Amino acid sequence: MSKNQNTTDYNHRIPTDIQPSGPKEVFFKWNTGESFRVPYFEIRFECPCASCVDEHTGKRVLKRESISPEIRATGMQVIGRYAIQISWTDGHATGMYHFDRLYELCRNHGTSA
Ligand SMILES: [Zn+2]
Repeated sequence: MSKNQNTTDYNHRIPTDIQPSGPKEVFFKWNTGESFRVPYFEIRFECPCASCVDEHTGKRVLKRESISPEIRATGMQVIGRYAIQISWTDGHATGMYHFDRLYELCRNHGTSA
């Protein structure tokens, strides 16, 4: 599998701005021109890492009730050109959120900002 970095992929969505927006939400602006405010809780719940989702079945093992309603991100680090790693107030930091997944999260759980 090779990925040609010179090819312009017009479907590739890239966040151009990410900012905390109050105690419970984060603001995302995308290269599509859209922007959203998304609850931290929903992003934490959708964590794609191997301890939150069973690798073999693809089923989510993380339960909503085990996440604090006060959950917040403590850090976000861009990984390459495709993902963001998020650290959380519950100490969890292994989730790498592909940009496409984050965009889906914005569409599904965000409010237009
Ligand atoms: Zn996780």
